[in-house]
Amino acid sequence: MNDTKTHNTSGTDDEKKKKEEEEEMEMEMEMEMKGEWRETPIMSRSKAGNPPTTTSRFDPLAVTWTDRYRETLDRYWKRLPNFLGSFIATVAVFIFGSTVRGEWLLILVHFLKAFRNTTNVSTNITTTSINGTASGGLLLGIDLSQYHLQGLEFYIIVSTTVSCILYLGLGGFLHWYYYVRQRDNAHEWKCQPTKFLSPEMERHEIMFGSSILLLGSFLTAILACYIMNDGWSTVYFNVSDYGWLWYFVSWPVVYVSQDYVIYWTHRIYHLPFLYKHFHKMHHKYKQPTAFSVTAIHPIEFINMQAILISPMFLFPIHWTVQVTIMIYIFYHGIIDHSGINFKAFWWQPWQPDAIFHDNHHQYFHVNFGFNCSYWDKLHGTLRRKDRVYREDLYYGKGKDVSQCTRAELQRALTERESENVKAYRGTTIREEQISEVKNKLL
Ligand SMILES: [Zn+2]
Ligand SMILES: [Zn+2]
Repeated sequence: MNDTKTHNTSGTDDEKKKKEEEEEMEMEMEMEMKGEWRETPIMSRSKAGNPPTTTSRFDPLAVTWTDRYRETLDRYWKRLPNFLGSFIATVAVFIFGSTVRGEWLLILVHFLKAFRNTTNVSTNITTTSINGTASGGLLLGIDLSQYHLQGLEFYIIVSTTVSCILYLGLGGFLHWYYYVRQRDNAHEWKCQPTKFLSPEMERHEIMFGSSILLLGSFLTAILACYIMNDGWSTVYFNVSDYGWLWYFVSWPVVYVSQDYVIYWTHRIYHLPFLYKHFHKMHHKYKQPTAFSVTAIHPIEFINMQAILISPMFLFPIHWTVQVTIMIYIFYHGIIDHSGINFKAFWWQPWQPDAIFHDNHHQYFHVNFGFNCSYWDKLHGTLRRKDRVYREDLYYGKGKDVSQCTRAELQRALTERESENVKAYRGTTIREEQISEVKNKLL
């Protein structure tokens, strides 16, 4: 009776809608308070599937500056030829990827040192000019030159400032380019096209990610300063020091060994104790975005960074090898977390597509590798269609579909159907994943 009454009156209809929206908001706030944020289906975010338009009023809580200025950006972007727009986006992904963890200064320092070596400039021009701005190599009464750290204040200020500008500037641009501008078109580009992080989770990710970035930039500044002031490391600048053979062999040796160590470190962080106390922070984002690459527990972040710079102190490594591999790993860190259906290039047969790590965030304890899927194949932790994976199923092997209850299978089917066929090469993989569960449900 009440229902009929409601449907017959458009005013009451509006009231009902408003009430529903209020209830939804209250529920979301309650979930946020309890830290239960997971995901927001696209349509519940706003009626048009778009973030709320913020141009009519100042919105201090807009997720990024690009949310705030989206209409202005849209207007100017439309004036650019298509090829130029794609080119700018590609360059932005690359620069953002290679600089986002704050190591850009360490990379730059190696370039400067190589340049200094080839031009035979015996005086450290850069360091001297940096020292000129510092307080005579003294910091809090400590003689920094004793530790090869003269000019450290300058490095810290430059490192943290530029890192923040790149993170928020380029990260904001990419967020707008995909997540705002092409939001209604998510089936074309997104790995999980029907699900987005809630605005609150996006804000959390950016705030948390940028605070870890600051920590990373601070530590990198110390290392970059130390290297620039000729502190000890095993990095060399003349190929003739160790010969061409070692130069070529060192590329795969560093890449493969580092990737294997990273695989195991990541897998160990997925053991119940370490997962609950450390790594779970990174897995709050079931639909990762580029910002989530630094949104990890500080201890884990330092641990991972230590592995990435370890070749600089372990064996002779030419600076081009160290720098190129670092840029490659950072770049793919962004690609893997972007939530976008990026594919590896033909010349990277070892490199999994972005969906590989997106699956890791969607299904938790599976696909632990980063820049090579071979380790997962070797150790049986590669995602299989006849296994169900969830946050409460540890150790990377999942649960056999034949042992799952109907409810578990139904949940697995919903997850599988929410993936984008365009994120895979060919249509068969996703279809097989779905039919495997469907057949069990019949
Ligand atoms: Zn993980
Ligand atoms: Zn991740």
